[in-house]
Amino acid sequence: MHKSALVLFSGGQDSTTCLADALVRFERVETLGFDYGQRHSIELDVRLQVLERLRREFPHWDARLGEDHLLKLDVLAQVSESSLTQDIAFAMQANGLPNTFVPGRNLLFLTLAGALAYRRGLEVIVTGVCETDYSGYPDCRDDTMKAMQLALSLGMDRRLVVDTPLMWLDKAQTWALAERLGGQALVRLVVEATHTCYEGERGQLHAWGHGCGHCPACELRARGWERYAASRASVG
Ligand code: ZN
Repeated sequence: MHKSALVLFSGGQDSTTCLADALVRFERVETLGFDYGQRHSIELDVRLQVLERLRREFPHWDARLGEDHLLKLDVLAQVSESSLTQDIAFAMQANGLPNTFVPGRNLLFLTLAGALAYRRGLEVIVTGVCETDYSGYPDCRDDTMKAMQLALSLGMDRRLVVDTPLMWLDKAQTWALAERLGGQALVRLVVEATHTCYEGERGQLHAWGHGCGHCPACELRARGWERYAASRASVG
């Protein structure tokens, strides 16, 4: 039905899996990342390394993978007080949200993705947001995504689909999806090349990937890996 997609791609486990999923489903795929003054610029290096490995190790996807876009979004740090952009420790806030929460960040990302998709003639915007597992960010909810799809389609006067392949998957299922899409080669790539850690730690390679191992993002990733590995062991 749809032939082209723009994938919001940060170089993490989720967006890398979404990108692989898009490369299976669409003939033309472009990627979009944001430089919003992240505390750790490692993310921006990692996303290029992931793209490079995907091209090299999956030549049949290379032909479908088009331009990579990086938009500077310094303004985000001006409007937010988040541990993602400022040098303050990760903590839970009184409202039950982690202080990595940048209010409305995904609304801004999707609006810019919509504008870029319009200009590039891309029909679907793919994002790795998810309601399951920990985060509980309100701008990742399914209803929010549906509302954004409607707002973008009306505001651009063109049908734009917001596609969320991970919305109802937990982290173990996201690992399993990577295996279905690209076998153990893709699982290895996600383990070794992607970045999830809030602390920007690369260092030692654990079974589940690089990271500090104790921040919420690392814990979530490691727990998901353990359940995925256990389910593989029990079937085979
Ligand atoms: Zn970490």
